[in-house]
Amino acid sequence: MTHRILMLPGDHIGPEIVAEAERVLRCLGDVFGLAIELEYAHLGGCGVDAEGAPLPQSTLALARAADAALLGAVGGPEWDGLERSLRPERGLLAIRAELGLFANLRPALAFPELAGASSLRPDVVSGLDILIVRELTGGIYFGEPRGIRERADGVREGFNTLVYGADEIERIGRVAFAAAERRGGRLCSVDKANVLESSELWREVMTGLASDHPDVALSHMYVDNAAMQLVRAPRQFDVMVTGNLFGDILSDCAAMLTGSIGMLPSASLDELGRGLYEPVHGSAPDISGQGKANPLATILSVAMMLRHSLNEGELADRVERAVATVLGEGLRTPDLAAEGAPAIGTVAMGDAVVAALQAQAG
Ligand code: NAD
Repeated sequence: MTHRILMLPGDHIGPEIVAEAERVLRCLGDVFGLAIELEYAHLGGCGVDAEGAPLPQSTLALARAADAALLGAVGGPEWDGLERSLRPERGLLAIRAELGLFANLRPALAFPELAGASSLRPDVVSGLDILIVRELTGGIYFGEPRGIRERADGVREGFNTLVYGADEIERIGRVAFAAAERRGGRLCSVDKANVLESSELWREVMTGLASDHPDVALSHMYVDNAAMQLVRAPRQFDVMVTGNLFGDILSDCAAMLTGSIGMLPSASLDELGRGLYEPVHGSAPDISGQGKANPLATILSVAMMLRHSLNEGELADRVERAVATVLGEGLRTPDLAAEGAPAIGTVAMGDAVVAALQAQAG
């Protein structure tokens, strides 16, 4: 079966890092027989420039028809002055909403070779392997009513609504339980049930799902404690599941435990497991065009795509092993290199991953 993959390079370093991901995909085709058909489309600032919208209709149509999409990153100062509906980030929010990508999976994996790059002591982070499952299309970021209005006394107030339906909680819960079953069998649900009614329901629904997953040990934690535990003793966690707002904050916190933003992949999935895969970082305009962006987060996003949307788990393992190999060889892009140590560029890092994959074939 041929997998249809939509490539969305985006802006600034986006095309540079997606080019390396494409070489990895082509290598998997040539060496391991992965059958793929790649198409390209605009998303973000490049969509505004070429087609007048950050999410052009042509891009959306291709995304709906694809088995999965790979995004580089969107945004840059040249589009910051545009009206809100034309900003690159709107394209990203719109494609997530249009495709119903409600489940955001963000692994935080500390490669032993990079343990020294974390802001925490190596003995606290070495062996760290957390998966944060964040609800992405509900909660306070989307709840109505919302706005800024004037109170009766003439003072302006901003307001938002935190609302979660039991159906929304259940579907993200099922994704998280399934992930915990595939991994270490531990799931921590994060909420603020001591204060928020929406969290009370969240906890009730998660608890109700536990009987369908006897192999998973479910625990609950308040979000303030979870933030503290993530920096105190992060290895206690296997899978964490939480709502949109808490997940936004906790996943960035977990990300930094691993040392570099250039290493972190993510997946956003719909009900059928189709998804949008992208590095966690942005378009890095400060280094674009210099050939020094780290392509590994994008390459690791390809691994997530192989595992979660294309049912090619063995190839996903191969890509992750290839990344571990190049790090083990001491190869570093500037964001990973210790001060004064030699570093290689984007294309050379792509070369090294492709070579490591070819070496696996013997
Ligand atoms: P950023 O993640 O682009 O950059 C933050 C810092 O990390 C910069 O110093 C950058 O050089 C570095 N960095 C990021 N990715 C790197 C990589 N692969 N290799 C080496 N270094 C890397 O965040 P920012 O500067 O706040 O945002 C820049 C633009 O990206 C903005 O327009 C923002 O809106 C957008 N953005 C897009 C996404 C997305 O597309 N998903 C996410 C975040 C920010």
